[in-house]
Amino acid sequence: MSFIPSTSVTTPEDADQRRAKQPVIVYPVGSLPEPDMDGLVAMRETLVKIDEVIVPPREGGSFSVLKGHFVRFVSVEGPQVGDLNLWNAQNLSERFFSGKTRALHATHVTTGNRLWSTLPYLRPMATITHDTLGWYGFDKDGAGVHDVIGTRCDPYTNKLLSGGNYHHCCHSNLTRAMAQATGLSEAEAEPHVHDVLNVFMCTGFTHDTHQYFMKASPVRPGDYLELFAEIDLLGAISACPGGDCSATHSSDTAACYPLKIEIFRPDMTLLEDWSYPEANGYIWP
Ligand SMILES: [Zn+2]
Repeated sequence: MSFIPSTSVTTPEDADQRRAKQPVIVYPVGSLPEPDMDGLVAMRETLVKIDEVIVPPREGGSFSVLKGHFVRFVSVEGPQVGDLNLWNAQNLSERFFSGKTRALHATHVTTGNRLWSTLPYLRPMATITHDTLGWYGFDKDGAGVHDVIGTRCDPYTNKLLSGGNYHHCCHSNLTRAMAQATGLSEAEAEPHVHDVLNVFMCTGFTHDTHQYFMKASPVRPGDYLELFAEIDLLGAISACPGGDCSATHSSDTAACYPLKIEIFRPDMTLLEDWSYPEANGYIWP
């Protein structure tokens, strides 16, 4: 089939009326089960740090966080974007579903939003309990922070566009981190790597052509994004070779910094009556 230029398409006479229909939110936010934010805030008051991982620049790192515990992704030393993958620690086929998270919440996520898992499980894997960049909102370019619209930089797209071989794309870093954490070979681990939550990344779609763009992350050392684990999680994060993603990625050109992962345990007596999410209850006919 050949490409049909838009000049060969006839605009209907009622085109303006057709475009003037009212938008309707696809999944009204009020219809989602709400997280118990008061309960989570009370737990946050009791956090004790139990583990810490430093992810070197242009590398990946993995972490485990038990349900009922918290994980923080912390900016250290300089502005750095992190590409995050999450799996059910007991079942790697249940993993983060960025597309449905975007559809249920928004293009960018913040405190109170949840990170949903793939079908057929479709449950909150984690709830965002604190975001020090929550002040950013959406800027005049339409950009926000912590997107679930990008996929992850990867060596295949880089090969396609630049012809080169680059081995520290987020996809590659996540693959290596996942392989190391699970004992799988890199070839076995690669298909488990999935579309990410772009922690600290500042992105949007251009107003005119609706193309995906990035701009310098507003993150400063000390900023963090914090999640409450709703199920036992295995996670991996890549310190993107794009650094603050202000200019370039998929090369060693950008200034890059480490990321810190911190795991916290709350006072577990606060969780005695906590209801952890079950896998989705839909039954096929
Ligand atoms: Zn990247």
